Amino acid sequence: MFITLEGPEGSGKSTVLTRMKDWLMEQGHGVVLTREPGGSRLGRTLRSILLDVSSKDLTGEAELFLYLADRAQHVSQIIRPALAEGMVVLCDRYADSTVVYQGYGRGLDTALLHRFNEVAVQGVWPDLTLLLDVSPEIGLKRAMSRNLSEGKCNAEGRFEAESLQFHHRIRDGYLAWAAVNRKRFVVVDASRNPDEVFIQARDAVQARLAQ
Ligand code: C5P
Repeated sequence: MFITLEGPEGSGKSTVLTRMKDWLMEQGHGVVLTREPGGSRLGRTLRSILLDVSSKDLTGEAELFLYLADRAQHVSQIIRPALAEGMVVLCDRYADSTVVYQGYGRGLDTALLHRFNEVAVQGVWPDLTLLLDVSPEIGLKRAMSRNLSEGKCNAEGRFEAESLQFHHRIRDGYLAWAAVNRKRFVVVDASRNPDEVFIQARDAVQARLAQ
């Protein structure tokens, strides 16, 4: 079973993933918790480039190919082998992030991005994708207070520093893409408190496991 979590900044993906992993293990499942970018050794190098480089030194197209390289390696080296062993793979972001961030966010052609994704994922599509939906106003506030509590010298990471308009395109893009792929997506209201968000996510996973 392959489950991906998607959502904008500050949607609470990490909290849900950690709790989901514990819950799945209590149910007797073997679990691999991984993420993009950065799930493989190559991916960790790519992640530090992607998150550290300033936007003026990275074109939208160059950024796209780094995400795709990360994904291709991640699928081959981590995700496909874990699924073959019967593990539940929980992945923080996957192909949908590319369509939403590089497509709806940065203006690249979403149909073309989907085709690039098909090359990168080699047939490995999620059984379930949870979209943690939250407004940019709430999400950015959470992300900034997290950055400050992690001791970053200012509250703004590269992505939080994008315009509010960009973050609205991300949120709207996710909802539009989820509607196109409604068989695989479940939208979770991530504006609620952490317990309520987890329960919605867990119920969706439980329902999918029971099918
Ligand atoms: O999930 P996490 O916040 O760790 O992702 C790192 C950053 O990379 C995010 O802030 C997201 O905005 C960005 N990203 C992106 N395009 C992707 C995947 C992630 O711009 N395809």
